[in-house]
Amino acid sequence: MGTVSRRTFLLGGAAAAGGAVVLGVPRWASAAEPTIRYPFTLGVASGDPLPDSVVLWTRLAPAPLNGDGLGGMPASNFAVAWEVASDPAFGSVVASGTSTAVPANAHSVHVVAGGLQPGAWYYYRFKAQTHISPVGRTRTAPASTTQPSSMLFAFASCQHWEQGWYHAHRFLANDQPDLVLWLGDYIYEGTSSQATDVRGYTVTDEVDTLAQYRQRYAQHRTDPNLRAAHAAAPWAAVFDDHEVKNNWAGNDPTTTSPEPGAPPIPSTRKAAAFKAWWENMPTRIPQPTTSSIAAYRRLQWGTLASLHLLDTRQYRDDQAPDGSCPVMRSSTRTITGATQEQWLLDALATRSATWDLLGQQVFFAGRDTGGDAADCNDMSTDAWDGYTASRQRITQGWVNRQVRNPVVLTGDVHRHWAANLHLDYYTGGQIVGTELVTSSISSLGSDTAPDLSRMPHIRYIGNQRGYVRCRLTPSQLTSEWVGISSAFQQNPSLVTSSVVRRYAVLDGQPGLVSI
Ligand code: FE
Ligand code: CA
Repeated sequence: MGTVSRRTFLLGGAAAAGGAVVLGVPRWASAAEPTIRYPFTLGVASGDPLPDSVVLWTRLAPAPLNGDGLGGMPASNFAVAWEVASDPAFGSVVASGTSTAVPANAHSVHVVAGGLQPGAWYYYRFKAQTHISPVGRTRTAPASTTQPSSMLFAFASCQHWEQGWYHAHRFLANDQPDLVLWLGDYIYEGTSSQATDVRGYTVTDEVDTLAQYRQRYAQHRTDPNLRAAHAAAPWAAVFDDHEVKNNWAGNDPTTTSPEPGAPPIPSTRKAAAFKAWWENMPTRIPQPTTSSIAAYRRLQWGTLASLHLLDTRQYRDDQAPDGSCPVMRSSTRTITGATQEQWLLDALATRSATWDLLGQQVFFAGRDTGGDAADCNDMSTDAWDGYTASRQRITQGWVNRQVRNPVVLTGDVHRHWAANLHLDYYTGGQIVGTELVTSSISSLGSDTAPDLSRMPHIRYIGNQRGYVRCRLTPSQLTSEWVGISSAFQQNPSLVTSSVVRRYAVLDGQPGLVSI
């Protein structure tokens, strides 16, 4: 950590020496604060861009791996100055202010930097006492009534710390996308214990307290490639299961169980997990104060794209027992909850953008990997296959509303996939949408090749770690599945990335087109 901290500090110093405005130490706070060592070890991040504002994030943590989760900070408030400029040397500062980092939020800082121009790139940094943070790059969304000619976005999921190096984040950062969608499994609560593990946790057990969740997020942010991906572009992040507990379901403590029949997750554990997630994500959603969190939300990219970010964990019915067709196909079941489902369908009805992107956690298309009869074996009860009525209401819902370009973006399965969406996955028929699925950044994938004989709608499966990169224009979505050569190899000079598959989706024509 020392090397990284020194280098980033010198970068800040170089910017100041180049004639930029130096952030002032707030006079009202400086005298009372205990002196701290360099606190920006976890980097900077931004997220949830609107046309006139973006959320800026950092956290003060001179000793990020401390077991108490408090990052080596004294238990008092600290002033954190921030500034946004239109140039990387901060010669032209367009917004600035001071925020207070408080112990109750582990000295994390969420600033809504407002008064910005739509569709513009910016640079931002923080200062605490004499310490200057690394510089982050971010941007605002286009104005709501304009049609941008192009948008470059990337989406990713599943970064098990122990199971691989984060080279994929380095390549993603180098792409300089307009927006990064994080679709879940930012951390894993459990340990890996695989022969191929490349590194270990400092908390070696499953995490279940606020201190442990905080410490685990901090450990992830000590990775320079992950910090680079955050510093390169604004993120829009949602959580999946492992930010809390493997395969957890539901918002009611009496029905929540990680596996059918298992004891419920205590509401105190969910509250701790949500709080730590919120503290560490550059999001504008309100801070959770209980064991629930208002995570589903929408972003707009002019009239080019509506981005619906879903929460398929918190309001879902419990998973069906394996192979239980009567439960999986029950008409009353939901993976979104009724309120979120209506929120989504109402927005789809407005057709306010050319493309409707559904950023969400688990496999949406039918995925019967048994190749045998259409029973409910060989299907994931944790994915939309375990909630077929819920999927039907949404898919039929966008058909009924004549949604022009519905595209589902998915993580979770540690492989690249691409699929055409139908109303019925066994009879096929009309293609009504498209699903693009990203592999993991680092989490292990399965070596077993699934039998796809019953699933002609699934057009691609890859088994490399990586992410998906999409170029969106009014006429076409071009999707590139990026694979890295190895997540086990530590040396970055020995790891390459390549486009392992490429498909297009054409405006007004649901489904994958080879290009
Ligand atoms: Fe995962
Ligand atoms: Ca998952």
